[in-house]
Amino acid sequence: MVKPLHGHLARKRFGQNFLTDPNIIRKIVAAIAPQPGDAIVEIGPGLGALTRPLMEACEHLHVVEIDRDLIARLKTEHPPEKLTVHEGDALKFDFSRLPDDLKVVGNLPYNISTPLLFHLGDYAERVREMTFMLQKEVVERMVAEPDTEAYGRLGVMLQYRFRMARLFDVPPGAFHPAPKVTSAIVRMQPRPQSELDCTDAKLLGRIVTAAFGQRRKTLRNTLRGVVSDADFEALGIDPVARGETLSLADFVRIANYCAAREVA
Ligand code: SAM
Repeated sequence: MVKPLHGHLARKRFGQNFLTDPNIIRKIVAAIAPQPGDAIVEIGPGLGALTRPLMEACEHLHVVEIDRDLIARLKTEHPPEKLTVHEGDALKFDFSRLPDDLKVVGNLPYNISTPLLFHLGDYAERVREMTFMLQKEVVERMVAEPDTEAYGRLGVMLQYRFRMARLFDVPPGAFHPAPKVTSAIVRMQPRPQSELDCTDAKLLGRIVTAAFGQRRKTLRNTLRGVVSDADFEALGIDPVARGETLSLADFVRIANYCAAREVA
């Protein structure tokens, strides 16, 4: 039976595992490096383990929280001049309501981490940097290189939009209740416009999704109807290779080739 923490019983449906290890909390805050004047939003502040030190370091903090009990608590504990609490689901939150040059941080609930990363991708232009704690396996997929088991759609699409760095691991014992898995901290910095060399990012998304849809199949099969043998030859890509052998640059070349052919 899990014991309450500061009078709050962790809710599984909201992925609640609260950070309690002061050294880990310090390390994460140091990685975020909050400065006075920074615009920062924390997703899922929970009982405030990261919220408090972040608020101390910057003039004002925004948080997005879904749990009504925790929202009420945050509002009682912190004045609105220091903390703005946005109530509701971060997956539906309009981040353009917040100031530009935003730092986005959070110990993300595992059950929503992948859709949330894609949702935040839509706001990349307004973001300076994102620092998240996620399940270690998810971080491995995010930073994965071609020809590895962890390499797939998530990694390719995020690496197109962001520079990513895996910073350090966090063991289950740093939380209450302890999760079953190890976590890891990842830093994501939006790439400048000059590096975004794909002419149609939506088409890139469709091609990458198809290429990894059936991992064991060849590119000729997974991209049938989109890329012909003649196209593969023109691109210098082997049609009997599998998606996991292609680099991000290869996927961008395929997408740009298909986009140009459609315009021609
Ligand atoms: N930041 C705290 C910490 O490190 O101790 C809590 C982290 S806990 C893993 C995840 C937090 O996200 C909880 O406070 C939970 O209520 C909140 N949460 C879960 N789903 C959410 C959603 N869809 N939108 C906003 N917050 C959510």
